[in-house]
Amino acid sequence: MAGPLGLSENLWEVLACPCDAHDAVVADEQDQMIVCTVCQRRFPVRDGVPVMLLDEALFPPAVEG
Ligand SMILES: [Zn+2]
Repeated sequence: MAGPLGLSENLWEVLACPCDAHDAVVADEQDQMIVCTVCQRRFPVRDGVPVMLLDEALFPPAVEG
């Protein structure tokens, strides 16, 4: 049974941000990204594999205004 972003539920249970907080991550279905709830880093999913590397992480776009 696939969960968000086509990743398995089992995978979501163990996914965590590699930042210092090692906190939970959530799916951004619109952008097909994995987003840390603490540091807001965004991780891509390539070929169905989450790339949970700080080197690959993107930060959210600057807030407008
Ligand atoms: Zn984080």
